[in-house]
Amino acid sequence: MSTTVNCCCDAVHDGNCPEPGGLSRRLFMATAAGAAGAAGLGFSPAVAAAPSPDKAKFMEEATRLAIESVEKGWGGPFGAVIVKDGEIIGRGQNRVLLTGIPVFHAEITAIMDASARLNPKALLGSDYGAGTILEMIPREPGSPDPVPERARMLKGCEIYINGAPCPMCMSAIYWSRIDHVYFAASLKDTSAIGFDDAFQYEDFAKPWSERRIAVTENFERATGLKAYEAWMNKKDRHPY
Ligand SMILES: [Zn+2]
Repeated sequence: MSTTVNCCCDAVHDGNCPEPGGLSRRLFMATAAGAAGAAGLGFSPAVAAAPSPDKAKFMEEATRLAIESVEKGWGGPFGAVIVKDGEIIGRGQNRVLLTGIPVFHAEITAIMDASARLNPKALLGSDYGAGTILEMIPREPGSPDPVPERARMLKGCEIYINGAPCPMCMSAIYWSRIDHVYFAASLKDTSAIGFDDAFQYEDFAKPWSERRIAVTENFERATGLKAYEAWMNKKDRHPY
């Protein structure tokens, strides 16, 4: 069966993407978006309608953060903002060069900034009540989610990124339950300046044994499962 989709290369295809790795990337995005939709997380497609002036303003701020990072030598040209009810509640910029931390990406830091702002007591584990991002909300009707409720996290928020998210950041967006992703430059644009994430998208589609990084599955499984047991035995555990 062939379906017409908006591809990562900015074209609409009904078959193979002409870009190297394009098909795998497209499949990854489609699978991930489908999984989120099935889980009732309300995720919208990454390709958005023409942005309103407000939305354009948010993208300008994400881009300003990206340019600042470049000019100050802090990291790559990537910035992100998280918006709730029309207001910026989180900002992030790539600071890999400043920190030497390879995962210091704009989206990750924007998510941490927004989460800390919305739920300053989250780390204390002492305030899970109404109004915090750890407040439990019911799964949506028809959701295959195995538990009846999930923590709110950043549901109700949008993220604006000046460049297409890498797989790590896209995954972080799912964990955060952000409703909508707006990104400006495409994966192809990002590849053109030397930040090629294509192989990661391709790797995700392969079995563990065929990944570029060696992965040993089920190594000392019984040991690892002791932590799962501890979780299940904890009477007051807070699911999320
Ligand atoms: Zn990233």
